[in-house]
Amino acid sequence: MDFILATNNMKKLAEMQRILSPLGINVVTAKMLGVSLPDVVEDGDTFEANAEIKARSACDIMNMPAIADDSGLCVDYLDGMPGIYSARFANIEEHNGVNVDNEQNADDEQNNNLLLKKLEGVPMEQRTAYYVCAICCIFPDGRKIVVRGECHGNIGFQRDGNAGFGYDPLFIINGKSFGKYEGAEKDKISHRGNALRALVKELEKNI
Ligand code: IMP
Repeated sequence: MDFILATNNMKKLAEMQRILSPLGINVVTAKMLGVSLPDVVEDGDTFEANAEIKARSACDIMNMPAIADDSGLCVDYLDGMPGIYSARFANIEEHNGVNVDNEQNADDEQNNNLLLKKLEGVPMEQRTAYYVCAICCIFPDGRKIVVRGECHGNIGFQRDGNAGFGYDPLFIINGKSFGKYEGAEKDKISHRGNALRALVKELEKNI
């Protein structure tokens, strides 16, 4: 069965295809079918709500089952920030202690620099963090599946490795950064891998 994957992030597409295609689930982007999906406003206040906004929009437009993920990094020392703001962390401005979201994504370099700055002087034992990935699947007949995967580790003192994307060069798990993991090795323990495995279990009940 073919599913539309509501993302423009080719690295996420690659991770999803790597895990789902051996299970007989083929994910394609709308772009691969010649359709350009409009940007949606991700104004939910949870990962799950934002995943649903993206999946519902893609399903409505394509009239095909649609999968979307919303993911991010939650740093305990920063009370869970950047969390749902992970992609645009460096563009969130603080005014009088209130975070103002200008909704523009920042690049990975800027986001990682800001994270290192906010954790300056913080010892390793207080640099705990976890990735979250919420995945929502919506079928044209209205059925909805929502799953979540997490992956717990620490934020390093400097970047290490070039693999992966986003905060991976700073995220340390089992003594090495995700920036140094092979793709398949990351999938076994990653938030996205865990969420996709939960999704597959739910899809088996639904299809
Ligand atoms: P989204 O596309 O709105 O879900 O934004 C997710 C953001 O969270 C990305 O831009 C990355 O900064 C971060 N992120 C999510 N998953 C990962 C991952 O597996 N590795 C590194 N960064 C990630």
